[in-house]
Amino acid sequence: MDRYVEIDGHKLPAVWEICHQCSGEGKSSAYLGAYSRDEFNEAFDGDEQEAYFRGDYDRTCETCKGHGKTLEIDLDRCTKEQERIAHDHFADLNAAAAERRYCGEY
Ligand SMILES: [Zn+2]
Repeated sequence: MDRYVEIDGHKLPAVWEICHQCSGEGKSSAYLGAYSRDEFNEAFDGDEQEAYFRGDYDRTCETCKGHGKTLEIDLDRCTKEQERIAHDHFADLNAAAAERRYCGEY
């Protein structure tokens, strides 16, 4: 069955893709942020490190809401007009992502 995503009020053809955030796990500890090895050793003691790697700190992935997959625009099936809408949409997303990185959330 063909799937669609709605972008800015337009229906675009879409496909299911493995979630980039959690690699399809449906949960991740990404919200904790990234640690360098030293920071990690400082933030977690031995037991906590074990728990971390066991996934005790994992939360339901916000990107895919725990599905492990996300609906992505299928550019192969887009018309020229739909491609333009998708392009504009991604440009916005990239700008937002760059802003998040700038604010140190990444
Ligand atoms: Zn996910």
